[in-house]
Amino acid sequence: MKRDSMKCPKCGAEMNCHAEKPVDPLSAKEAAAAAQGALVEEIHLCPRCGFTESRRLIA
Ligand SMILES: [Zn+2]
Repeated sequence: MKRDSMKCPKCGAEMNCHAEKPVDPLSAKEAAAAAQGALVEEIHLCPRCGFTESRRLIA
């Protein structure tokens, strides 16, 4: 599955996803995804300014 790239909110550069970690589900939909190991939080790092951003994702 191809994932969308993420733009840095500070400088607009394309960010690199450098980590994923499991997160606790907050909804029934997320719980269903988590049961299959498909609910993660991605950590994105900007190669230009070093800003980090995270987002929850159902893979
Ligand atoms: Zn940046």
